[in-house]
Amino acid sequence: MDQHLLDIREDVFHRNQGESEFHQAVTEVFESLNTVIGKHPEYADAAILQRMCEPERQIIFRVPWTDDEGKVQINRGFRVEFNSALGPYKGGLRFHPSVYLGTVKFLGFEQVFKNALTGMPIGGGKGGSDFDPRGRSEGEVMRFCQSFMTELYRHIGEYTDVPAGDIGVGGREIGFLFGQYKRITNRYESAVLTGKGMGWGGSLLRPEATGYGAVLFAQEMLKTRGATFDGQRVVVSGSGNVAINAIDKAQSLGATAVAASDSGGYIVDEAGIDVALLRQIKEVERGRISEYAERRGGKAKYVENGCVWDVDATVALPSATQNELEAKDAKRLVEAGIVAVAEGANMPCTADATAIFQEAGVLFGPGKAANAGGVATSALEMQQNASRDSWSFGHTERRLEEIMIGIHSTCATTADRYGKPGNYVAGANIAGFTKVADAMLALGVI
Ligand code: NDP
Repeated sequence: MDQHLLDIREDVFHRNQGESEFHQAVTEVFESLNTVIGKHPEYADAAILQRMCEPERQIIFRVPWTDDEGKVQINRGFRVEFNSALGPYKGGLRFHPSVYLGTVKFLGFEQVFKNALTGMPIGGGKGGSDFDPRGRSEGEVMRFCQSFMTELYRHIGEYTDVPAGDIGVGGREIGFLFGQYKRITNRYESAVLTGKGMGWGGSLLRPEATGYGAVLFAQEMLKTRGATFDGQRVVVSGSGNVAINAIDKAQSLGATAVAASDSGGYIVDEAGIDVALLRQIKEVERGRISEYAERRGGKAKYVENGCVWDVDATVALPSATQNELEAKDAKRLVEAGIVAVAEGANMPCTADATAIFQEAGVLFGPGKAANAGGVATSALEMQQNASRDSWSFGHTERRLEEIMIGIHSTCATTADRYGKPGNYVAGANIAGFTKVADAMLALGVI
């Protein structure tokens, strides 16, 4: 990284102290930008990078709600509206006890570049709360969502900021949030949230889109080595929305997905994960992955508190959370013959792990490219809402495929152009950055 970039980064660290994930995300982007800044002095002249690292708006609010025992609970809500040069802020809401401002900023920063890569007219933002929905009753989740939206509603809108789901926020939570927005505003403003249910403004394929998209991105990477998913041994982390749909898609392409996890441990099922059973346990019953092994009739084993990256794979799809795949895991996977890694989650691989994969020549798809199918399909949901239309599953899937192939090709050609062939991290960062930077230049100093 040259001195100009180091100085800006130092200032960002200083202004955002203690936000380690945000620092990590900024560092990863900056490390890709040396050649770009050298070729384009106009970006430095207009302080584009400094502006990109400073969110346009950061909202932090109190979320009071009453639990089933009648006790008042207080959580903290966040929405970071990072960059709207390309369109309304767009990005999910995460409900997890670990959420703090630094989490939301790192996710919002990543989202700006990811959304640019999709080619859709969407800016970047992210939000959430330190609320933990696990173990809470339906009524508690609803009251929390209603209280959260009672503050958030004044900051969002179809043309302003369009949240969606993320960890801990699925169709149920989006329903409660949308219901409260509609009630407060007296407007059926469908495109204010994405990830809605099919019967009330949602898009077919949106639930599947992130996981499917990550597999489609990995498939494009494999093609560059003359390979396909057929016969691959896939390991996935997590067992939420992204993980389950990634498993589903990988198996439909002929792979065997043998392992998945949650925060309690992992399962191994050498015959291939039974997706219907996993969906039933995780999505319908909201249970734990340990139950999968219990109900698989001896075909699967559960390893409590184990690390899923101890399982050999040729393709890894980390799809749980940030920094869940460390250097030691990367080394082990390389030794075991891993061919490709596509990040279904946001920043699941640490910087060291990413470097190990890249140095070993493993195909590595960073989250901001590989998991962009979710937000791209959210933008398709917004298109359907705007035109009061509802597309078929097949039509939406073809659009997703085109978008993922397009993102792969953008990353690959950009990496080539800037002298980093095969480096999808550099390709994604540079292509996302230049698209947003050019729009910011055109819009003046705002
Ligand atoms: P879900 O809440 O549906 O699932 C999350 C899964 O990850 C669960 O299995 C959860 O296990 C596990 N997990 C979460 N936190 C931890 C942790 N600290 N340690 C170990 N396991 C953990 O979330 P999603 O599937 O929607 O999101 C997963 C990732 O994908 C996130 O990084 C998200 O930002 C990213 N993403 C999601 C998109 C979407 O459309 N949903 C779009 C783009 C990216 P447990 O239940 O035990 O907590």
